[in-house]
Amino acid sequence: MAVAVQLTHVTKAFDTTLAVNDVSLKIEKGEFFFLLGPSGCGKSTFLRIVAGFYKPDTGELRFDDTLMNNVPPHQRNTGMVFQNYALWPHMSVAENIEYGLTLRKLEKSERSEKIARALEMVQMEDYHDRAVNTLSGGQQQRIALARALVVEPSVLLLDEPISNLDAALRQQMRDEIKQIHDRTNITMFYVTHDQVDALSMADRMAIMQDGIVIQVGTPREVYQFPKNAFVASFVGETNFISGKVQHTSNGHATIETPVGTLHSKTVYHNLSEGTPVQCSIRPEALSVNNNQNDGNRAENTITAKITAVNYLGRIEEYQLAAADIPLKAVHHNPGIETKKPGDTVQLAIAAAAVIPLPD
Ligand code: ATP
Repeated sequence: MAVAVQLTHVTKAFDTTLAVNDVSLKIEKGEFFFLLGPSGCGKSTFLRIVAGFYKPDTGELRFDDTLMNNVPPHQRNTGMVFQNYALWPHMSVAENIEYGLTLRKLEKSERSEKIARALEMVQMEDYHDRAVNTLSGGQQQRIALARALVVEPSVLLLDEPISNLDAALRQQMRDEIKQIHDRTNITMFYVTHDQVDALSMADRMAIMQDGIVIQVGTPREVYQFPKNAFVASFVGETNFISGKVQHTSNGHATIETPVGTLHSKTVYHNLSEGTPVQCSIRPEALSVNNNQNDGNRAENTITAKITAVNYLGRIEEYQLAAADIPLKAVHHNPGIETKKPGDTVQLAIAAAAVIPLPD
């Protein structure tokens, strides 16, 4: 695969804050790549370095093989879509989209053709002449996408583009943006603090904390094999049970914890005996049973007390406590019968679902 964007040991500091700290990363051509992290971790600074609004203090930024450190933003052939749309409210939809084409001095007929194609791409063909301030938030964001796409950027940069929309529309826009990526195959770089955005749309994602890229992988890799406790809790939900490694061999381990010995079949860190670990166990991996016999068939069984039940139709969530450790379990397709707060239950956990992470 050809590399579209490459950062090598890039650092950017503001006074004493290392906003981007020695980041090396490759985004491949045509890839939908996400940078995911909490507020203040350095996402916007990173995006601005790629767009050219900030110059790295050290390190190299390349597009294809070309060094970009000193290339000004308008010569980078990037498109940008922001959270606040940044459309011109007094102009029509078509005029907003046309702007970048006029700057590039294209003929009128070519401009019209490209505007029509861009509107088709975001399924807004009927809105050509509308004033943008009469459009809904979701429609405005589609026009912002069309405006960025129409100049055929080599990289499309998206900065929290759907954070302003309500939950239902956000989900719809996720589907649409992904479809637009699949249709155009443009290299897209999307920064967000919203793990659902990244999990649902990314080809690959980088998880950032305090200016450092902690892990890069596909959504499945990151969710199923988080590198550390921060990634496990930031991408999806998880339970942590702390303990000490008793024994390890060939990707298996036994861990001594306050809820008893846990067996793990998913050990991908080098853990020696006595190492303190946090065992990450996803809520969907905790199976809530009524009696000891059900639990006996599992590789791990924990006795716990239900503290709260939250019935949501498609799923049911249980809050539990085991040796004072709060746990959460999620069950799909809950039946008519349920458990009650105060019930003592057995939690069955497959050894493959117990992931010991260095503390
Ligand atoms: P958010 O999701 O809240 O936008 P972010 O992940 O985009 O956050 P950045 O805006 O890149 O984070 O900021 C990273 C760090 O750099 C923060 O500690 C921030 O306070 C600091 N920072 C960013 N821009 C500047 C600046 N122009 N001057 C000084 N400090 C800055």
